[in-house]
Amino acid sequence: MAEKYVSGHTFMRFSVNLCIQIFVSLVLYRKPYQMRKNKMTRRNFLRATTAVTGVFAIARGFSEPLYHQKKKAMRFRLIRHATILLSAGPYSFLVDPMLSIKEAMDPVGNAANKYRIPMTDLPINETELKEMLSAVDAVLVTHTHRDHWDTAAQQMIAKDKKIFCQPVDEEKIRKQGFTNVTAISEHITWEDVQLFRTGGQHGTGEIGKQMGIVSGFVVKYKDASVYIAGDTVWCSEVENAIQKYSPGHIIVNGGGARFLTGDPITMTIDDVAKVADYTEAPLSVVHLDTVNHCLQKRSDFRAFVTEKRLSKKIQVPEDGEWIAV
Ligand SMILES: [Zn+2]
Repeated sequence: MAEKYVSGHTFMRFSVNLCIQIFVSLVLYRKPYQMRKNKMTRRNFLRATTAVTGVFAIARGFSEPLYHQKKKAMRFRLIRHATILLSAGPYSFLVDPMLSIKEAMDPVGNAANKYRIPMTDLPINETELKEMLSAVDAVLVTHTHRDHWDTAAQQMIAKDKKIFCQPVDEEKIRKQGFTNVTAISEHITWEDVQLFRTGGQHGTGEIGKQMGIVSGFVVKYKDASVYIAGDTVWCSEVENAIQKYSPGHIIVNGGGARFLTGDPITMTIDDVAKVADYTEAPLSVVHLDTVNHCLQKRSDFRAFVTEKRLSKKIQVPEDGEWIAV
């Protein structure tokens, strides 16, 4: 089912590449005509063509971000905020579904503004959403705050759908009527997929405590793996997870979400910079521009990425965009 959800962005990139290829080919095919006029030898022509093609291929390689260079078994589509469709070989997981329509929920209280949430619509229509929900093999819930597991998701997802969650949320999700709930305390093998639970800190001090226990997950399929860090700031748990699992790709929740008092409860630009410093793995920053207490925007993260020339390592996907892991 995953192939159906190719984003416009990917299509644009493909089209631009195709146009460049056609242009270069046309230039090269004009050569034989000029060659006859200038009496260029066949050997020289072949040399020139090989050199031009080589330079072009190398230039393209350098210009393509890391996450588009390798065709691997895993990829994911940012749906919106922390909601992600993760495709691992033949399996698909829906991570942290918040499926409410735009402005259906009250704002997060005690924040710098009172915008209703979600602040944006889903990038897919109702039919596509229903298709996606029936096609996914399982749902992965990092914690049950309403921007990760909302009433709409609880109503729309089939009650017998496989749900993976952290132990502390198992009973709550069962009480919501779900019959096929598995808590992951450390590790589980499901079909050909390995799921590892990781820790995190949803803020610091008293506010961090009030936010409760949160998790992340490392999902591994064959030689590909992705670390979904969940709602956490940069902390020793994130460091440990990167050390322990050496993930091929890391998805972090940005936005620098915060209340009127206390420190941020999700990653700020500084936090993301620290993660990037710590790992070789490419990063994707999500959890942006959707919930009112996330004060750092996509545009802020992108400005940082441009300024630090990190565009091959960090990307800030649009809602609906696919990323290869
Ligand atoms: Zn969140």
